[in-house]
Amino acid sequence: MQLVIFGPPGVGKGTLSDMLSAKYKIPHISTGDIFRSEIKSGNSELIQYVEKGLLVPDSVVNKVIEKALKQESFKNGFILDGYPRTTDQAEFLENAVWKLKKKINLVLNLAAPEDEIVKRLTARRHCPKCGALYNLITVKPKKKDICDKCGSQLAIRKDDEPETVRKRIQVYNSETAPLIEHYRKKKLLADIDGSKRPRTVFGEGVAFIEKHIPKQQKMD
Ligand SMILES: [Zn+2]
Repeated sequence: MQLVIFGPPGVGKGTLSDMLSAKYKIPHISTGDIFRSEIKSGNSELIQYVEKGLLVPDSVVNKVIEKALKQESFKNGFILDGYPRTTDQAEFLENAVWKLKKKINLVLNLAAPEDEIVKRLTARRHCPKCGALYNLITVKPKKKDICDKCGSQLAIRKDDEPETVRKRIQVYNSETAPLIEHYRKKKLLADIDGSKRPRTVFGEGVAFIEKHIPKQQKMD
């Protein structure tokens, strides 16, 4: 089965995707991870947008996604998170999936109040030296602002600063709202409250999948 997970940054798409991936034994494709590895390899076309907190143009994103979907590991299905973000991308995806003789079975739409998201994301810290990740709410370092693993001073990613977070949410809302309607009309959309605990969010996701996707298609 092919699932798409929607939601603003910090709403818990990655966590939900990983939990569903473990339950249904299909891989989680994180667009963020794909992008990060492209950025690492020096894709300057991507870098200029990401640094400003702007969405990357469809033409650039589509190329990366189509290449990813063709991988052997996704032939029995996937959970796509962070893509599509525009109606054009959705149409591109439908076509790309159709070419692989598949279809999108369900779109899970995670939502949470803006202040909740800002609270979660601005609590994130990372260690610039060893890369360890922390969260001042959920995964606190033992000593304030110091990495447990290597003793370095922790830092905030530019992406997680309050102004950047609010800007990312605004960009998400304005770009993605038409897309939510697109999938609602196609009767593929399932609304989930992302402000709840991961376990509850997961339970709601599973309930939608069990209700809307026939057993046979779960294995396609
Ligand atoms: Zn460290």
